[in-house]
Amino acid sequence: MKHLPDFIQRLINEFDKLPGIGPKTASRLVFNLLHRKEDIKELSEALADAYKNIHLCPQCYNLTDDGLCSICRNPQRDKSTICIVANNQDVEAVEKTAEFNGVYHLLNGLLSPLEGITPDKLKIKELADRIKNNGVTEIILALDQSMEGEATTIYLSKFLQDYPVIISQLARGIPMGANIEYTDEITLTSALKNRKKI
Ligand SMILES: [Zn+2]
Repeated sequence: MKHLPDFIQRLINEFDKLPGIGPKTASRLVFNLLHRKEDIKELSEALADAYKNIHLCPQCYNLTDDGLCSICRNPQRDKSTICIVANNQDVEAVEKTAEFNGVYHLLNGLLSPLEGITPDKLKIKELADRIKNNGVTEIILALDQSMEGEATTIYLSKFLQDYPVIISQLARGIPMGANIEYTDEITLTSALKNRKKI
């Protein structure tokens, strides 16, 4: 695209880094956006705000703009029960059920040795510190029913065996291969209610 200004290629490269977007879709999105100047302004301001303010909650690794996230800060939430999830979308999915009143711990992914995601790449050591220091009594593993999710559940259930906590995982209401993120609220609510001890 030598005939176009450099910033267009830069934009396409940045869009191309997002999950599920190849170079073709990235070009399509960028060219579409370039015809909407007002939207570019809005988007660039929102991105600048995000860049300036976003950080990870030092306790649960959820996204926040100020110290602890709103869930960790909320005195009504039961700090002795931690629901372990892979990412932010999963927190949103569990919150939608209104069935869980504890706090979260985001692993920042799932184990996948083939992609180089080994236990040290996830927030597992941080979880152990949290359990030791915060009077945690129950851990709920709310991970995808995928190969990576299963591997992570097995790893964590073994890893946590040395800690004085009750460990449970979501009931099998969730279809095999399903992501927490895309599981409907009714199914997820029942999977939480009927969680099984491991
Ligand atoms: Zn938090």
